[in-house]
Amino acid sequence: MIRFENVNKTYPDGTEAVNELGIEVEEGTTTVLVGPSGCGKTTTMKLINRLEEPSGGAIYYDDTDVTDLDATELRRKIGYVIQDVGLFEHMTVGENVATVPDLEGWDRERIDDRVEELLDLVGLPAEEYRDSYPSELSGGQQQRVGVARALAADPDVMLMDEPFGALDPLTREELQDEFLDIQSEIETTIVFVTHDINEALKMGNRIAVMNEGECVQYDSPTALLNNPATKFVEDFIGPDRTLKQLRVLRVEEIMESEVPDEHRTVVDAFEGGEDAVMADGGELIPVTPGDSAQVALSRCIQADVEALPVVESADVIGVVTETAIRHRQAEEAS
Ligand code: ADP
Repeated sequence: MIRFENVNKTYPDGTEAVNELGIEVEEGTTTVLVGPSGCGKTTTMKLINRLEEPSGGAIYYDDTDVTDLDATELRRKIGYVIQDVGLFEHMTVGENVATVPDLEGWDRERIDDRVEELLDLVGLPAEEYRDSYPSELSGGQQQRVGVARALAADPDVMLMDEPFGALDPLTREELQDEFLDIQSEIETTIVFVTHDINEALKMGNRIAVMNEGECVQYDSPTALLNNPATKFVEDFIGPDRTLKQLRVLRVEEIMESEVPDEHRTVVDAFEGGEDAVMADGGELIPVTPGDSAQVALSRCIQADVEALPVVESADVIGVVTETAIRHRQAEEAS
């Protein structure tokens, strides 16, 4: 979908921001650019929608060199969300979200429907928020409007530059989770910039670790954790690799769809009532296929059970066991 071939970017003052970058962003996936401040992430992002032009090499969008495309048109096809969301303060939430559809000349009814659909999608019900002004919203809510605005014209690609960077840790986690849900619905191709390795591991299908303008490793979160290519990557990932592995491992990768007899009790307990309380008083909270192994493990410990029901649309579709989690953990550590 987007391919960087030997891309260099030197700013007029001589700063070499990007050096021989060669990565490919696959359609429908989230690629995260991660690295310390000043390593060239934002520059790389801006090269995609031509807010900057490369000094060497080329960037292809669906096999067309982006410098052969009309910059304005390209930017309308690509959603852009930045940290300081940049909402238009004098416009209502609804008008902000409608910006690109307006420019594209959609008819009123289609725009209204789209605004309503998107505000609902990002958790801001249209009837309540459509006519509010940005200054009446919290930081987290403004960021949600920013996401809705970027999605408005149904872009093929979304560029997100530290989109949740200015939020407090709790709101940030909440928006990350919501965005993962949204992404599983819309399946847009996303390029996401962050300096936070935990955010990268959580959000990315593939992660490009950058240092001083170079991409030092481009891999899946699991591969990155298991085989850091250099000392720099290892240090950047930091300690607690085992814990981080548990966070990137999804329940769906380790669950059993056939419930073994010895774990029937937890499924029966769950099906017996939503707030199932186990014999010793621990509360049994099921997991979903998209939950992390870390969440599953902590819920097993909390309820003092060996297994948890895996639930999708209120149906039990299998179980995940503490043994399976620990087994996978041991395998990956070896
Ligand atoms: P990151 O997003 O990883 O923090 P940037 O892409 O913003 O990194 O910056 C990479 C390098 O390029 C830094 O050294 C930064 O100071 C420099 N830089 C960024 N924008 C400009 C510019 N417009 N002119 C000159 N240097 C710049």
